[in-house]
Amino acid sequence: MYEIYRECTFAASHQLRNYKGKCERLHGHNWRVGIHIVGDALDEAGMLMDFRELDAVLKEALESFDHRHLNEVPPFIDESPSSERLAAELFTRVSARLPSHRNVRVRCCDVWENDLSRARYYPGSL
Ligand SMILES: [Zn+2]
Repeated sequence: MYEIYRECTFAASHQLRNYKGKCERLHGHNWRVGIHIVGDALDEAGMLMDFRELDAVLKEALESFDHRHLNEVPPFIDESPSSERLAAELFTRVSARLPSHRNVRVRCCDVWENDLSRARYYPGSL
């Protein structure tokens, strides 16, 4: 198996719901997103997927979140917009946008609120 990894950043505000503490108040982050792509077949150029192609997919998946208040954007109109839920949503969005001619899938998605705090989503169960 091969794995490639790409990061992207975006800016957005949020307010956690059902939470008592500073993060229930309106505040913003310069979010950092990392996407892990895996597959076992390389193309003629020896690549799993072109980083430029992956960057375009990631930016498209982030489009509705960038410079927005996450609580006002689906699927966070009703759900608390935590880093964990953001990672799961971006996992789903990027998975749906991967080019079908590439034999690849998303392994996991990372979302950093800051340099010290990261949430990761990957499918599975305990
Ligand atoms: Zn926050």
